[in-house]
Amino acid sequence: MKPLTEQEIRAAFVNCTKGEAKRLAVPRDLADRPWDDLDYLGWRDPQAPDRGYLVVELDGRPHGVALRCSSAAVGQQRRSMCSLCLTTHSGGVSLMVAPKAGKPGKQGNSVGAYICGDLDCSLYVRGKKDAGVGARLHETLTVEEKIGRTVANIASFVAKVTAA
Ligand SMILES: [Zn+2]
Repeated sequence: MKPLTEQEIRAAFVNCTKGEAKRLAVPRDLADRPWDDLDYLGWRDPQAPDRGYLVVELDGRPHGVALRCSSAAVGQQRRSMCSLCLTTHSGGVSLMVAPKAGKPGKQGNSVGAYICGDLDCSLYVRGKKDAGVGARLHETLTVEEKIGRTVANIASFVAKVTAA
């Protein structure tokens, strides 16, 4: 994806108030992020481990989604699968809940998804980060096809968050 500035990131959030977007913890190492290998920028707030964020470019415009992460990783012992990139981890997948944008969000509606706890889906898909033995189902898809599938899954997640 195209590198984003802190300002662009803060302006991109669809499901939190302007004040929250102004205060949320944007990574300090934006210049060092592997943008060429990212389908979305994702991070956890180091000061508030239950908060996570992802920013993805859709229709030529960055969309940011604020997430609440369940404190306990799902199935510490059991293997679970990320719903975005379909990587299987032992204890490395978190249930992340995004308040919906606008009025539905104010009424308490949210969208949940199981997502790689470190929000590094892009790197798992490209084989740049290893989720351990048996992390990938044997698939005949190419990396490009897996990237396409991941992007489609992220787009549909964001669409659910922004749906009225
Ligand atoms: Zn993932």
